[in-house]
Amino acid sequence: MVLYPKLYFKKVTDITLDILRDHNIKGLILDVDNTLIDFDRNMDSKIKLWVDKLKSEDIKFCIVSNTNKVDKVKKVAEELDIPYFYFAKKPCKKGFLQAKQLMNLDNKNIAAVGDQIMTDVIGANRCKMFPILVEPLGKKDIFITKIKRPIEKLIINRYLSKIKKEKV
Ligand SMILES: [Mg+2]
Repeated sequence: MVLYPKLYFKKVTDITLDILRDHNIKGLILDVDNTLIDFDRNMDSKIKLWVDKLKSEDIKFCIVSNTNKVDKVKKVAEELDIPYFYFAKKPCKKGFLQAKQLMNLDNKNIAAVGDQIMTDVIGANRCKMFPILVEPLGKKDIFITKIKRPIEKLIINRYLSKIKKEKV
């Protein structure tokens, strides 16, 4: 199902090395807005520690963001010391494929992490990558995202009830 993630977590730092190894993931594509930073551009210091730890275990990283605000993406990328692509127009494949090329990994070994189904999850599924959905960091969204949230909520609820059924 193109709308469903493979895994769903509260926040990016819940994604552990063990989880990545279990699914043979060697690289992570990260979304920025409401995944790494909130609406006011604050980033939790734990995220830097999380990235550094996974890097030390040879996990590769690349940022793929839809925002056209290069200064915002660049600041996050520099702080985490990872490459970036911005104005990516996810769910278009282009940004994901640019990141894949840079990381030099197979699609199946790449997880794309983000807070939106319509952009992050659908884009990753279209590229046959491993989509990981996280809860948005804040309640504040840009206008276009705000419109999509109720639909996303419906899809997430269906996804969660499907998982629950599978576990029974
Ligand atoms: Mg986002």
